[in-house]
Amino acid sequence: MSTTRDYYEILGVSKDASDTELKKAYRKLAMKFHPDKNKEADAEEKFKEISEAYAVLSDAEKKAQYDRFGHAGIDGRYSTEDIFRNADFGDFGDLGDIFGSIFGGGGGFGGGGRRRQGPTRGSDLRYDLGVTLEQAAFGEKVQINIPRAENCETCGGSGAKEGTSPKTCATCRGSGQVTHARRTPLGNFMTTTTCGACHGKGQVIESPCPVCRGSGKQKKVRKMGVSVPKGADTGLRLKMSGEGEAGSPGAPPGDLYIVIHVKQHDKFERVGDDIVYGIPISFSQAALGTEIQVPTLHGKVNMKIKPGTQTHSVLRLKGKGMPHLHGHGQGDQLVRVIVETPTNLTGKQKDLLEELERLSDGDHKGSKKKGFFDKLKNVFESSTSDNSVGTVD
Ligand SMILES: [Zn+2]
Ligand SMILES: [Zn+2]
Repeated sequence: MSTTRDYYEILGVSKDASDTELKKAYRKLAMKFHPDKNKEADAEEKFKEISEAYAVLSDAEKKAQYDRFGHAGIDGRYSTEDIFRNADFGDFGDLGDIFGSIFGGGGGFGGGGRRRQGPTRGSDLRYDLGVTLEQAAFGEKVQINIPRAENCETCGGSGAKEGTSPKTCATCRGSGQVTHARRTPLGNFMTTTTCGACHGKGQVIESPCPVCRGSGKQKKVRKMGVSVPKGADTGLRLKMSGEGEAGSPGAPPGDLYIVIHVKQHDKFERVGDDIVYGIPISFSQAALGTEIQVPTLHGKVNMKIKPGTQTHSVLRLKGKGMPHLHGHGQGDQLVRVIVETPTNLTGKQKDLLEELERLSDGDHKGSKKKGFFDKLKNVFESSTSDNSVGTVD
């Protein structure tokens, strides 16, 4: 089960509390944390917790297990359903309807099973929204089309034809359930089932609305604007309260959840709030140093390349990354410099490089067996010591 707190402590009763005391304690807390009355975020959790504690302690066998082995004696032995199966919530008739909606499923709680189905809240909807890296970086209001069930405009969601209204079901007299007596060798058994005439609603529509054919709902495609927040990343969930499907008459609609997916960019790679970008430079630019223009999400930026920069050096452009979703400031752009080895040399270029080779030879006597680039690497390493990370503001 969910809670790890002590059941006696949860209900505020002693280990030898009587049935009456237990009931009294539960009723008091159940009223306090009833999710219909208590709108605090954790009310439902609290309500589940006290109900679980009551279900265990009010059942002699489960109480004995709990007293001997604690939570281990309950968790290992009973499923959630089992815990509540025999629990007697019958004395709390005024709480009855809530059990079905919180714990899911119908009967099992109390003696009589569920009574008439109350109005049901509309379903939640999910919409997966693809955005570009730029939209995610700068925030943007985008238009989306949501197909959803809305209340029928003609009948206002009642499902009844104009000028008429739903009638109380004659079969179950509005209770939504019917009771049958079953005769068996062991005696008469009463069984209660959902009313077939009204499907548990307690009401029937004699003249259905012609537009929605009595369903009270209409499929609509609703256009709406979604504000993509600055710094949004894939997986971010935006809740739009009340924008889900319509509920049954008298019940609120569901919510709409927008799930953000940031599309891959052809130049930039996002790592958290940093942007990684690779830029090729020539062999001589790396050796001699230069200034290059680097594209960023925030426009082009000039960046200094120090003489003797190695390939795959990473230079940091501070504040040129993605904005932080929560709070101020933004990530950086990390520029990976890729030194390209020249190919298809002209005669003159070849001459110059051979000249360089000869000059390097002079510096490194006895290293004739080393390749040209190894030697060049030596030259770079001896002339630069701290060139891997630079900053450009
Ligand atoms: Zn209608
Ligand atoms: Zn009925």
